[in-house]
Amino acid sequence: AMYEAKRGHKGTMLYDENRDGHTVDRLQLVGELRRALDRGEFVLHYQPKMALPDRSIYGVEALARWQHPSRGLLPPGEFLPLLESSGLIQPFSKWVVRTAARQAAAWREAGMPLKVAVNLSTRSLLSPALPATVLSIVSGADLPPSLLELEITETALMTNPDLAARVLAQLRARGVEVSIDDFGAGYTSLAFLRVLPITALKIDRSLVSGMLENACDRAVTEAVVDLGHRLGLRVIAEGVETEQLLDALADLGCDRAQGYAIARPMPPAELERWLNDENASEWSGTGSTARQR
Ligand code: C2E
Ligand code: MG
Ligand code: MG
Ligand code: MG
Repeated sequence: AMYEAKRGHKGTMLYDENRDGHTVDRLQLVGELRRALDRGEFVLHYQPKMALPDRSIYGVEALARWQHPSRGLLPPGEFLPLLESSGLIQPFSKWVVRTAARQAAAWREAGMPLKVAVNLSTRSLLSPALPATVLSIVSGADLPPSLLELEITETALMTNPDLAARVLAQLRARGVEVSIDDFGAGYTSLAFLRVLPITALKIDRSLVSGMLENACDRAVTEAVVDLGHRLGLRVIAEGVETEQLLDALADLGCDRAQGYAIARPMPPAELERWLNDENASEWSGTGSTARQR
């Protein structure tokens, strides 16, 4: 099935493709999503990404939420599948890239040159118009392209590898960074990985989280770090929930980490406070992105 059953607040189903007579619900929700886009009800939260072993924060990942007028703040699992199947994903993705690029440019202007990563769905990736759209947003925001990163899942890449590679090559040529998201959870051809125009591998939480208890998970994580390095890629671990795991990943030579052990995704103002609280001397003087913990 294309959709997972979505459970809304108070246990009510927000939308369930498998339910009989769902058509009215679906139309109603699609209408709500369209209005949400028009009214600006979507927001981006930002989760810090840490460089290892020095533990400086070099960037953030933008994660979308829907500030629903009656249901509260909804996570992407509640609205992404419907955005994707309703044709609204293109304007949504454009909004995400524009909002993230403007935010990155504003932070850079304020002396905080954070690299901002956005997630792109399969459909957005496989649009031949994507490179021109992204590049015009980046130049419109006056952002150095290297401060924008695209996170693409293995599934999206493998849906049409040749088209994906062509689209991404155009963006890489202009300096936009590209990472494979949820690596190890899906199925990427290793032969294809060799020729993909990417800069980083992001190891899926499902592998990382079991690393300390499960020898196999540890072996796979180590192998992915090694593979990434041999291909000249940076390797980042996602879903790092404990300090112990963070240390283990640093010992393993993993370049970067992200997860609740560092911080949760936050609205932009909260992120700025968090960065300042963590170290008052941060960003000062050098203009570097280094932040010692
Ligand atoms: P993702 O890109 O793999 O993002 C990581 C997800 O894991 C996020 O969930 C994040 O909040 C969560 N997370 C971060 N650290 C931890 C941790 O230590 N433990 C656990 N258990 N979870 C952690 P979120 O925000 O619900 O997003 C889910 C997925 O929705 C994302 O997975 C991404 O694939 C998609 N998504 C989010 N925003 C967008 C967007 O703007 N556009 C598109 N196309 N997809 C998006
Ligand atoms: Mg991601
Ligand atoms: Mg991920
Ligand atoms: Mg994930």
